[in-house]
Amino acid sequence: MSLLDLTALELGAKIKAGEVSVPEATRAALDAIEAKNAENNAFITVLNDRAMAQAEEIQKKISRGELTSPLAGVPLAIKDNICTKGVKTTCASKILGDFTPPYDATLTERINAIGGVVLGKLNMDEFAMGSTSETSFYGPTRNPWDLSRVPGGSSGGAAAAVAARECWYAIGSDTGGSIRQPASYCGVTGIKPTYGTVSRYGLIAYASSLDQIGPLARTAEDCAAVLDAIQGKDPRDGTSLDVPAGGLLAGLTGDLTGMRIGIPTDCFGQGLDSQVREKVLAAAEVLTSRGAVAEECSLPIMEYVVPAYYIIAAAEASSNLSRFDGVKYGWRAEGYADLTDLYNKTRTQGFGTEVKRRILLGTFVLSSGYYDAYYRKALQVKAVIKSAFDRAFERYDLLLMPTAPAPAPRLGESLSDPLQMYLSDIYTVSVNLAGLPGISLPCGLSADGLPIGAQLVGPALGERNVLSAAHAYQQVTDWHTLAPAENGGAE
Ligand code: GLN
Repeated sequence: MSLLDLTALELGAKIKAGEVSVPEATRAALDAIEAKNAENNAFITVLNDRAMAQAEEIQKKISRGELTSPLAGVPLAIKDNICTKGVKTTCASKILGDFTPPYDATLTERINAIGGVVLGKLNMDEFAMGSTSETSFYGPTRNPWDLSRVPGGSSGGAAAAVAARECWYAIGSDTGGSIRQPASYCGVTGIKPTYGTVSRYGLIAYASSLDQIGPLARTAEDCAAVLDAIQGKDPRDGTSLDVPAGGLLAGLTGDLTGMRIGIPTDCFGQGLDSQVREKVLAAAEVLTSRGAVAEECSLPIMEYVVPAYYIIAAAEASSNLSRFDGVKYGWRAEGYADLTDLYNKTRTQGFGTEVKRRILLGTFVLSSGYYDAYYRKALQVKAVIKSAFDRAFERYDLLLMPTAPAPAPRLGESLSDPLQMYLSDIYTVSVNLAGLPGISLPCGLSADGLPIGAQLVGPALGERNVLSAAHAYQQVTDWHTLAPAENGGAE
């Protein structure tokens, strides 16, 4: 068994026990990236020398007893929309192609503080807008389970890198499903925590009221350990919450006695692939066998969630992306006549098609005359969605639903039909609109051998139950241990 087959916590324990050194683990990961990145393109930037130097430093600190996190010394990779001081952070865009931040995101600082070795920056949809990781200026990422398929998006590089055993965990971001949906397409575990629990300082904004950073890893336990390290109040992010750091990993029991799980029938209707339905419902039975009580319930919002999300996300994006004008930082077009021409040329040539589509849509829904009809209406719908979840959580501790309507599509299939791609976010976007925690965990393979994900959603700050249920499930199933065929796993 290769070092890369260990979970992050297993590797952390071996490092602590002195059985594996941090440079040894880092070398193994860099070799795996070297061997696989040409085919799956999960990384935009690989930090070979920097990671090895960091590994040596961290090993010394661990040996001196200065780093005690269970993840100390475990190498990871970070989505390329999270600022890393002195390391290029492109957001998978041409316009930020030469942007090297002079500061670390809070996330990066916290990873540094526990002794995480950063292997590189991960590919994604440009500015995190997409569901396939095909809109990257640096070329699409491919799904390690089937290279003709997408890994999902926008954190497709993160999910692919974990699935392909190129790192032990990865950090992604989720505005409307970008951690959970790629996790489901690539057979890994990914959690979007409650809005505000992880600081967004230094996360390049897409839609600020929805954006949230979180981990993708092999197990719910690993995700809990990462959240323990990265969550908590940050004075530099006014929306960050004062949740205690630590405690999630220690709180995982595996005992679900009496936990009430609702299965919203609205999420299992038309448009859902029959294999996904079958596997997710089978997951309910496993949870019941561990002591949970599951029953059908209603969540009558499904027809509104995608339109409301795309109006709000695009509106915020149009405002957030106005800062990329070719003046302050980033790429600047050549051959402009005056300032307006500089803006026009830089933004026309610097942004890709999907990003421009969102900026146009967002500007439209915010313009006078349409604001009330679209943007204000979408905010009202958001409130309705939130109260539908509130009602459900009066009766249930968790809701179980699919993560995505179908397994990973082939490359190119979604680009030709953006509306179809937007609809594939139907099970994830409502969770962001309501600010709730949601985890996707592997729950089966399709007849084609593609991973399928089940999603567990909890009330605000209900991470503990979300992670406990996922952990209890993983204690008695082995879907999360499967690897793509080239790594000796499922054929
Ligand atoms: N697919 C969704 C979108 O394109 C979600 C993206 C995300 O979560 N960053 O907006």
